[in-house]
Amino acid sequence: MNLHHLFAIPLTRTPDKLCLQFRQGNQTRTFTYAQLFQAADELAATLQEWGLAKGDRVGFYLGNRPEFVVAYLAVIRLGAIMVPINLRYRRREIRHILGDCEPRLLITEQSQLPILDELEDEERASVEAVLVVDAFNDWLPQQPGKLTPPVVTGNDLALIMYTSGTTGRSKGAMISHNNVLATVTGLLAAWAWEPDDVLLLTLPLFHTHGLVVGLHCALAAGATTLLRPRFRAQETADELLSGEPTLFFAVPTIYVRLVDELSKRPRADLDFSHMRLFCSGSAPLAPETFKAFRRLTGHTILERYGMTETGMNLSNPYAGPRLPGTVGMELPGVFSRIVDKEGQDLPPGEEGELLVRGSNVFQGYWRDPEKTQASFSHDELGQRWFHTGDLARLDPETGYITLLGRSHELIISGGFNIYPREIEEMLETYPGIAEAAVVGSPHPEWGEVPVAYLVLEEASQEEGLDEEALVAWCKTQLASFKVPKEFHTVDELPRNAMGKLQKHLLKQRQAQQGQ
Ligand code: AMP
Repeated sequence: MNLHHLFAIPLTRTPDKLCLQFRQGNQTRTFTYAQLFQAADELAATLQEWGLAKGDRVGFYLGNRPEFVVAYLAVIRLGAIMVPINLRYRRREIRHILGDCEPRLLITEQSQLPILDELEDEERASVEAVLVVDAFNDWLPQQPGKLTPPVVTGNDLALIMYTSGTTGRSKGAMISHNNVLATVTGLLAAWAWEPDDVLLLTLPLFHTHGLVVGLHCALAAGATTLLRPRFRAQETADELLSGEPTLFFAVPTIYVRLVDELSKRPRADLDFSHMRLFCSGSAPLAPETFKAFRRLTGHTILERYGMTETGMNLSNPYAGPRLPGTVGMELPGVFSRIVDKEGQDLPPGEEGELLVRGSNVFQGYWRDPEKTQASFSHDELGQRWFHTGDLARLDPETGYITLLGRSHELIISGGFNIYPREIEEMLETYPGIAEAAVVGSPHPEWGEVPVAYLVLEEASQEEGLDEEALVAWCKTQLASFKVPKEFHTVDELPRNAMGKLQKHLLKQRQAQQGQ
């Protein structure tokens, strides 16, 4: 089975149902299942005539728009591989991706052309054609040829996704049709997707969260997607309150902004009774945000955990308690272990690295057998486990897993382990602090000491923080080795396009200050 077979189920059952609605400004465009898939087939026929074949890579450097979806469906229909490129990437990052995966075709939009034009010819040497998709009708073929779909199996690659790269250079995760199918079927069951669902999708389609968790699940469920170019607090809050959507998926930063936006509105206007589910993932959701959102909306956010390489792994339950600060349990078909540095299983309650296994786990890194090998280990039965690099603990009582940060974020001070997230969450409860990030700073005596970067709430920005009082309070909350040794107030924390904190930039800054 391939992804097209999965989508063919709703396409056959409900061809006239609204599949995709796209709104930008005052313009709205709608596509039924039949219209969307017909457009995809027409484009596939044209691309086939052009010579696009199974296994060819196609770079996608464009924003959320129907053309993205149509082109993606066309590409995977031909067994070609979609390579989404983060829209915020600039020359250096794009050059790396194009050089690494060598796409024959690049699909983009007018607004991105100046950035692509910065590339030297040899930096895009593999690209034989650039398809600019601004005007849908001009771009789709007037007289499409006949499509002869090749045999595409579940083992064929559907995607090469470059990981967001919170550290180092991005690597291409090879994701097969089966990998995506496993995540999608797991989520359809776990979150009780229904054809009546209407997903408000503001997350970028170039990332696994928007693409796999959002778009794929909606298409497979036969549901409706309200696709938007991006999240905008006011606009998105209005849409969520419109009564139309039933589902909303977001990263924690979006929930923080929604809490802020909704707090400004009269309580009587906040009716979210039509919503079925709010999900959060891609970064840790602060318990404060979880609680504030529940107070404002009456909804308990379901937090889940996944990554580009694995799709989705763990999730709080749909029916059952959703616990703040946890990412729940294994999704159907996913297996997990928590191990120590030697790879030995740890008993519940102990902190170690999270390993996962399942049909959702990717095939390896594109043209990088060394990194692939280093990311997997085998157990005594010969089963392959992916090392997520995330630190986790299984609660012996609830059976829920809590993430404690990335293994490389771990701060070791005087032989004691410090998990930055614990300190960050605590600091974020302190009056006047909006956001906190803690990194390790080299120290001659202790090895490393924790240092905090703080963003203050608007109201506290003018007078600043009383550091002495803050330190005194920290000492009442934390073991002394965990109390940050320096506090820096910054306007904002460095984040990548997915809103993920880029701690390595703070570390660099810290190292420069120490020189
Ligand atoms: P990406 O490949 O960009 O999706 O990033 C995957 C990484 O995001 C994981 O390895 C985690 O470190 C982090 N992540 C994803 N979901 C969560 C979550 N619910 N809580 C904390 N971190 C998360």
